[in-house]
Amino acid sequence: MSLAKLLLQWYQENKRVLPWRDIKDPYKIWLSEIMLQQTRIQQVYDYYERFTNQWKTIEELAKATEEEVFKAWEGLGYYSRAKNLHQTAKQIVNHYNGNFPQTYQELMKLPGIGAYTARAIASFAFLQPVVSLDGNAFRVITRVLDIDLPIHQSKNQKIIQKQADELLENASSKDFNYALMDLGNLVCKPFQPSCEICPLQSKCLAFHRNTQLSRPNKLKNLKRSIDFLVYFWFENQNKVCILKKNASYWKGLYVLPFLKLEENQWKNFDTDLIYETKHILTHKDLFIKIIKSEKLPFELENVEWIKKSDLIIKPFPKPLQNFIEFMNV
Ligand code: SF4
Repeated sequence: MSLAKLLLQWYQENKRVLPWRDIKDPYKIWLSEIMLQQTRIQQVYDYYERFTNQWKTIEELAKATEEEVFKAWEGLGYYSRAKNLHQTAKQIVNHYNGNFPQTYQELMKLPGIGAYTARAIASFAFLQPVVSLDGNAFRVITRVLDIDLPIHQSKNQKIIQKQADELLENASSKDFNYALMDLGNLVCKPFQPSCEICPLQSKCLAFHRNTQLSRPNKLKNLKRSIDFLVYFWFENQNKVCILKKNASYWKGLYVLPFLKLEENQWKNFDTDLIYETKHILTHKDLFIKIIKSEKLPFELENVEWIKKSDLIIKPFPKPLQNFIEFMNV
């Protein structure tokens, strides 16, 4: 039996039931795929429901303000996704008459839609015969074919994609892609693959060569950096000073006025400290202190004064959102 047939047979009995599966609406499929990027399924459920209730169609989402979209996205992280989501909604409405393009090549021209997401939408919504490889599916493919190429290089990703495309044969791409993801999630796990119950065991080169745990080859030098930040809780007549970030991480979200310091300076910044936390971004660790301040120690343009009780209306990044909850305003 071919690999595709073995995989689909297993899928029929083991598939995960998720609200964005077994639907045809490209808007909802696209929404779920953007939310699922670098995010665990458990976290996505509520946001998916919130968005699809608040904006039932792409036309409704296109009419929302960016701030409303950011607010609804608050807490899900990687905020460039929210910005791209909104821009794509507007482009689909303005340039495609509200209809998503159906090929992955066209889909990839839209903001925030990379190779994986474009292929996923093309197969799930439009049944195009393309294989989409998310992290789980990538792991399964590199193990089954025992591919040793470092996967952080895009030229290698293309080679792996091409080899995966050849495995599809005439199978339904939608089921094939969901099946690969589910197998990666439920059986072919990163550190403890359950090869003894795997339907692909007889085809799996990594199993036969005992190289499962070295696949995929993730060798790379990801340098992490650290930012030491002090935010200022500056309050006057029941109003608080905030500003909208217009560069770097958290662009488009609101923050308190802040300084980026050297580690030694940051460590000594302890007077009137009211909150301290650490936050982890993809390539960066943030060490954060929040200081109660009578007067800002620097000049700032573009600040806004907002009533404390209105803080919850504005979109803030997660650590500041936690702080606002902590302050119980
Ligand atoms: Fe993964 Fe093991 Fe199955 Fe190969 S046999 S696909 S390594 S679970």
